[in-house]
Amino acid sequence: MTAQTAGLQKYPHVFSPLQIGPHRLKNRILMGSMHTGLEDVPNAAERLSAYVAERARGGVGMIITGGITPHPSGGRGVKLSEPSEVPMHRQVTDAVHAADPDVKIVMQILHSGPIAHAAQPVGPSAVKSRIGSAVPLELDEDGIEEQIAAFANCAALAQQAGYDGVEIIGSAGYLISTFLVEKTNLRTDRWGGSWENRMRFPLEIVRRVRAAVGPDFILIFRISAMDMLQGGLAWEEVVSLAKGLEAEGVNVISTHFCWHESFVPTIATMVPRAAFTQVTGRLKKELSIPLITSNRINMPHVAEEVLARGDADLVSMARPMLADPDFMRKAAEGREDEINTCIACNQACLDHVMDMKLASCLVNPRAARETELAFLPTGNPKRIAVVGAGPAGMAFACIAAERGHAVSLFDASAQIGGQFNLARRIPGKEEFDETIRFFATRLRRLAVEMRFNTRVDPDLIAAGGFDEVVCATGIEPRIPAIPGMEHPMVAGYIDVLTGARTPGRKVAIMGAGGIGFDVAQFVTQHGPSAATDPALFAREWGIDFANHPRGGVTGVPPRVDHADREVWLLQRKPGSPGRGLGRTTGWTHKLLLQRRGVHMLGGVDYRRIDDSGLHIAVDGKDMLLPVDTVIVCAGQQPQRRLHDDLAARGIASRLLGGASDATSLDAQRAIREAAELAAVL
Ligand code: FAD
Ligand code: NAP
Ligand code: SF4
Repeated sequence: MTAQTAGLQKYPHVFSPLQIGPHRLKNRILMGSMHTGLEDVPNAAERLSAYVAERARGGVGMIITGGITPHPSGGRGVKLSEPSEVPMHRQVTDAVHAADPDVKIVMQILHSGPIAHAAQPVGPSAVKSRIGSAVPLELDEDGIEEQIAAFANCAALAQQAGYDGVEIIGSAGYLISTFLVEKTNLRTDRWGGSWENRMRFPLEIVRRVRAAVGPDFILIFRISAMDMLQGGLAWEEVVSLAKGLEAEGVNVISTHFCWHESFVPTIATMVPRAAFTQVTGRLKKELSIPLITSNRINMPHVAEEVLARGDADLVSMARPMLADPDFMRKAAEGREDEINTCIACNQACLDHVMDMKLASCLVNPRAARETELAFLPTGNPKRIAVVGAGPAGMAFACIAAERGHAVSLFDASAQIGGQFNLARRIPGKEEFDETIRFFATRLRRLAVEMRFNTRVDPDLIAAGGFDEVVCATGIEPRIPAIPGMEHPMVAGYIDVLTGARTPGRKVAIMGAGGIGFDVAQFVTQHGPSAATDPALFAREWGIDFANHPRGGVTGVPPRVDHADREVWLLQRKPGSPGRGLGRTTGWTHKLLLQRRGVHMLGGVDYRRIDDSGLHIAVDGKDMLLPVDTVIVCAGQQPQRRLHDDLAARGIASRLLGGASDATSLDAQRAIREAAELAAVL
């Protein structure tokens, strides 16, 4: 078996072609639609082209673009409603077809409806979304006709621009889905009321789009197979819509699992892999056209299992292609241990987009910066000592070695990973293991010299004859100066997470940042992690896969098992803890801890710790928390001892990651800084 065929034999379903009309997909994996913000920047076409072309070269079968608006009311994203807008798109389609003529490029048509960032959002009725900024304007008959015509016009322009097809998104709380659901469609005319009337809008759009583009253009419709919303679509309605769409000429149905305003996480790292594909599988039994499934499918074997089970005909991976553009090539060559796996953190992709920043990827800072961040072979190879094998040190060592430098990587501990070895112990963060595996493979293949159990000091560096020294020595936890901190009930988060200390039954967590929240999750965990068990996950979030009530959710309060422990999560800042957590994931952590009964207090003044517990004041009122354990998660300070000692010996070194600045440090910044330095050294 050659390297080229190893993966093809291992993943026969993934690598089997699929015919869609006259189009042949070379494999069953597509890059799902994802807004990166690249669409909105100067030189958009050039940067977007580089981004998609890199993914096309990486071996994916089909690429679906980020959402393109068919009408000015549809959102802030890039629009395609005028012939003058075609050339920018033509650059993108040309880039993909030049990179690999066998890769299909499909444009997603997205009208955000009531949740559009538009001067005046529109919808079937004047019902404001929980996450919308304004009450939408109720479309009248002319307005509805204008929107349908806009979809058809947009699809025709996409065809002129060289796309192989379009995907119409009819889910997630965007315009089309709000026509389908009773609570957002209060109309009594032919566009509302009965199910036949509510589904008229998508069916009419599809009919008009098909008429505009002819029979050979790929037409995908993204349906909400589970809205994850009380009062969402009933299963019979999902099936009826899908059948109606098939009858109107849709080639492929793509299943989506969420409205954005839902209170169920569907793509965060705490969601088990492939948790929702069973729903696609059920729908597949009702239709004769191919179905796409998605959500938390991030490795080739997961996709293979989904396809082999018959849950879907195609698998969509969006974020995994940000994390590793060469995903499919590596899978085909049996090099899956080299895949840079998406850990579903959302930190650099979705969180950025929500903050109107350009998306990238925590584990791959080159994503969406292909024209700026290049790792070219060096013309001046150096001997480089990298101290610290956390995310910053690992990333730097790999890129520097790849560029041709001779790299030695040191760590005081017995393994690579740094704080990721703690993060991976948090229930729901099991994916962090994959990043450590990725770097371990890469370091080995690049023959980086690795020296563990080695606490580096200036003597070692001086004796090594290095041309460059990089201190990626990370952080040390901050120990606040509070009376009683030496009390035996006080524990550091590292000791708790490594198992060196077992907390008692009543626990105060001092500090409610990312680590405080993770530690609260850790100490309240009971039994296996729901992130590894779809049935447990469904129970924790009130999803009913078996009976599929309206919207897929039970409506009764979910059952969340938790450890027999009373926990207080504290911060000095006024207000409720959790505001600084990730935009798209913070609420899930907070909700879960609330359901586990964790008390969250802001505006806390720590007074002292003694045998009776932790004494605090809140709003000037003294309180005693009668705890037996205080876990300190009060932030971190840079670990720069080596850097300072080297400087004292006249040896210059460069700082990276936590060692450079512990304020607002996260792995995203650590890896990005490492990549930027390694690209130029
Ligand atoms: P570190 O990871 O701290 O690595 C430093 C390394 O240097 C260590 O391995 C240490 O042994 C070594 N070292 C230090 N001094 C010496 C010396 N003299 N000689 C040899 N070796 C030395 N970040 C996120 O972005 N998202 C998350 O979800 C997330 N979750 C987290 C959960 C937990 C529980 C924890 C603890 C952290 C989490 N983080 C998260 C933070 C993230 O792990 C850090 O920001 C990141 O690890 C910092 O990387 P670094 O390489 O700068 O330092
Ligand atoms: P952090 O997020 O900055 O939180 C530190 C906490 O300690 C805050 O609650 C802070 O709030 C408190 N604190 C600071 N100084 C204090 C003092 N002198 N006395 C008492 N309390 C003090 O830092 P972290 O939790 O240590 O996390 C480290 C990094 O890892 C963060 O940058 C974080 O983004 C990252 N991380 C991310 C995630 C994630 O899910 N994205 C998870 C874990 C970690 P008050 O000052 O208000 O008390
Ligand atoms: Fe995946 Fe996180 Fe990268 Fe987004 S930032 S693509 S979620 S690893």
